[in-house]
Amino acid sequence: MSGLKGCPVNVSESNYRGERIMHFKLTEEQELVRAGVREFCQKYVEPIAEEVDMEPRFPMENIKRLAEQDWCGIPYPTQYGGAGADYLTYTIVVEELSRACAATGFTLECQTSLASFPLFKFGTEEQKQKWLTPLCKGQILGSFALTEPGAGTDVAAGSTTAVLDGDSYVLNGTKMFISNAPVAGVFIIFASTDKSKGPKGLSAFIVPADTSGIKPGEHLNKMGIRGALTSEVVLKNCRIPKGNLLGGEGQGFKIAMMTLDGGRIGIAAQALGIAQAALDESIHYSKERVQFGKPISSFQAIQWMLADMATEVEASRFLTYHAAWCYDQGLPYSKEAAMAKLHAAETAARQTNRAIQIHGGIGFIKGHKVERLYRDAKITEIYEGTSEVMRMVISGSILR
Ligand SMILES: Cc1cc2nc3c(=O)[nH]c(=O)nc-3n(C[C@H](O)[C@H](O)[C@H](O)COP(=O)(O)OP(=O)(O)OC[C@H]3O[C@@H](n4cnc5c(N)ncnc54)[C@H](O)[C@@H]3O)c2cc1C
Repeated sequence: MSGLKGCPVNVSESNYRGERIMHFKLTEEQELVRAGVREFCQKYVEPIAEEVDMEPRFPMENIKRLAEQDWCGIPYPTQYGGAGADYLTYTIVVEELSRACAATGFTLECQTSLASFPLFKFGTEEQKQKWLTPLCKGQILGSFALTEPGAGTDVAAGSTTAVLDGDSYVLNGTKMFISNAPVAGVFIIFASTDKSKGPKGLSAFIVPADTSGIKPGEHLNKMGIRGALTSEVVLKNCRIPKGNLLGGEGQGFKIAMMTLDGGRIGIAAQALGIAQAALDESIHYSKERVQFGKPISSFQAIQWMLADMATEVEASRFLTYHAAWCYDQGLPYSKEAAMAKLHAAETAARQTNRAIQIHGGIGFIKGHKVERLYRDAKITEIYEGTSEVMRMVISGSILR
């Protein structure tokens, strides 16, 4: 190949046809998975989404069904019970689940990104067999416990400690806002093994839920994603074998940050699903609702809101899929994940607000999906790094 006309760079055949090519089309398999998840959602998720939010209650029956579909460990190898698919496929599954019920989408995200990734990336073969496999098979649920009452964004300010005592570590401290905690079979707990080293003294531990000395608190009554379980976790002289250290002493900060980089793609997918649902509801309602003798979709004010919504949702989708694609290609994805989460989360917040505007008074009433979507959207701007943190990650990357 002679190169592109007007292009000063000699583009080689292999580069041009190889990994640099941009794909804007999902594979047939990814489309099939999307169609399968949509059907699953119509049958099982959508019908109970309102009840799950209102009561609230954890949709355990659907989590079991997700496991039956092999959707609890989508991007992990089959040798550990995963589906051996790519991260983009997992992203699509979280998007579609969240379109129907954000609490269900987030529960899967927590299982796959937060609890399983640290084991997959940093676990020994024995740790993977023992803990990653049941997580991928959905036989147990997992939690990632980093946040503390005094340490949110400032992760290194945590006061949970792990002290080596013979062949055991003894953990003490309190973790805050831990998702899946009340139903978890295993926790990834972050604790300091050397306070004098700050972030470099942070270590990660595998703590089975039946260990004496670990106790999840009451389910917190949340504004949104009310069906997903979140509680504090208290560690009181919690003794675990030395072999439950993940990675190595002092690796905790790195493990947490790498886990959150991938997790942010999952949260972007959750936000994308919520924003898409807000658009779906708005298109449908605007065609049905008649005022001044016409459907409100015939008014330009409504049409422009819908046009802006559709454009922002599509932009979020491109950013989210691109971040997942970078992950799959083994390319750096930290900045891409932060951009996707930032854009998708703020899009979800804006679009759910617009969706209520398009619905008028009825959108403000409980039991209408857009009211739930509005409350569910907010958390995507907060957890796994706030929007301010996303801007810090992005600016840190472009100013390097
Ligand atoms: C429903 C829910 C589920 C969660 N699940 C989990 C979980 O499973 N595991 C887990 O470990 N954690 C979890 N979290 C915790 C979540 O990740 C934190 O709430 C989040 O990181 C923010 O920390 P914070 O709440 O302490 O806020 P703070 O850190 O106190 O931040 C308060 C405000 O200050 C801003 N801010 C802080 N520092 C800076 C700075 N340097 N520059 C600019 N602005 C700044 C923040 O952006 C925010 O706007 C969950 C939280 C919720 C609400």
